[in-house]
Amino acid sequence: MNHFGYKNGTLHAEDVSLTALADWVGTPFYCYSRATLERHYKVFSGALPKDSLVAFSVKANGNLGVLKTLALLGAGADVVSGGEMAKALAAGIPASKIVFSGVGKTKEEMHQALTAGIYQFNVESEPELLALDEVARELNKIAPITLRINPDVDAKTHAKITTGKAETKFGIPFKHARAAYAQAAALHNVEIVGIDVHIGSQLTELEPFEAAFTKVAELAKTLRADGHSITRLDLGGGLGVPYQNNNMPPPDPIAYGKMVARVTGDLECRLIFEPGRLIAANAGVLVSKVLYLKKGDAKTFLILDAGMNDLIRPAMYDAHHEIVAVEEPGPGSERVPYDVVGPVCETSDLFAAGRDLPELNSGDLVAILSAGAYGATMASTYNARPPAPEVLVSGTEWAIVRPRLRHDDLIAQDKIPDWLAG
Ligand SMILES: *Cc1c(COP(=O)(O)O)cnc(C)c1O
Repeated sequence: MNHFGYKNGTLHAEDVSLTALADWVGTPFYCYSRATLERHYKVFSGALPKDSLVAFSVKANGNLGVLKTLALLGAGADVVSGGEMAKALAAGIPASKIVFSGVGKTKEEMHQALTAGIYQFNVESEPELLALDEVARELNKIAPITLRINPDVDAKTHAKITTGKAETKFGIPFKHARAAYAQAAALHNVEIVGIDVHIGSQLTELEPFEAAFTKVAELAKTLRADGHSITRLDLGGGLGVPYQNNNMPPPDPIAYGKMVARVTGDLECRLIFEPGRLIAANAGVLVSKVLYLKKGDAKTFLILDAGMNDLIRPAMYDAHHEIVAVEEPGPGSERVPYDVVGPVCETSDLFAAGRDLPELNSGDLVAILSAGAYGATMASTYNARPPAPEVLVSGTEWAIVRPRLRHDDLIAQDKIPDWLAG
């Protein structure tokens, strides 16, 4: 469920008209709905065992306005860089609700996280474990850790976002887990608190989760028998969202929560979840203007003012995004197949091929739906294009939560060396 819909013939985010917003902020722009973010967070956290920590995956959407919205609901944060940690803290998410994941944490990032006093580090390799112990020793601190285990299960999702197979770079191989925990237990400045797993993103079935969590639960028992204190299970993120209207919907959070309780309930661990997409994807749209309608020999191209630098998911993951006209087409109006493309000089700058849409003309607005996760966070300035600004709506209120960069801002990012300036 989301709070985007037509009112009086115009697509609205909650009570704000996207046509009016386009007049105020220009196009393209991202628009997020606070009520939708809140709803998704509440539905998900409500489906989980009590006392669970829901740590929003900041890489899905790191806008401070979004993070603050979730912080006010009690969300924690799952971060994968020092930058994300700084943003989570700046948005008011307390360090005691921050978990730090990722295969390549630097010693500087470890220092930053230990000083802040985060809830836990999800350690992904033996060398990382030794580095963390060393940094913690220098700071005279104890780092609370889980080891991220690679359970070698197939998440049945896009190859670029599957992370729980043995051949991916993530986690410690399941069969090395006991040895790695023994190694961790022998170190003085790390403290084992639990186990972590994250098998991928945009999962549309429960079975891979269940297979992974079952392995984790078994491992928890083995590790306890080995003498380790396992009090937390971090089960990662990855629950998928419907991107396409006519597709089989992914499992709902209630079914997911029930499965989790069944598989892990007897362990009496505190559970941690790291949802990103589930919270944010359908809470955001990318609004863009049609620049030109170009009739090629074989196809008709709808050339938008948003490009792959704003939203790279179609180019990178072959992702499907629904595209709708902001001004509601009349009932029974004709639909025509378009290749919906951006202005970037790449053939892969293609949002949809052969998509049936109502007839559109230059100047018309379209909304690319489900763009609230892995949209703005993956934006770039490719082609020296200022990325789309971001707007957060709440009821009848709206605010620009990331302004559009000007060309001067882009130019100011670079420096001409003195020895070239002449
Ligand atoms: C990306 C990521 C997530 C979030 O995944 P979603 O599919 O957006 O829920 C959670 N945990 C880790 C470690 C990740 O890398």
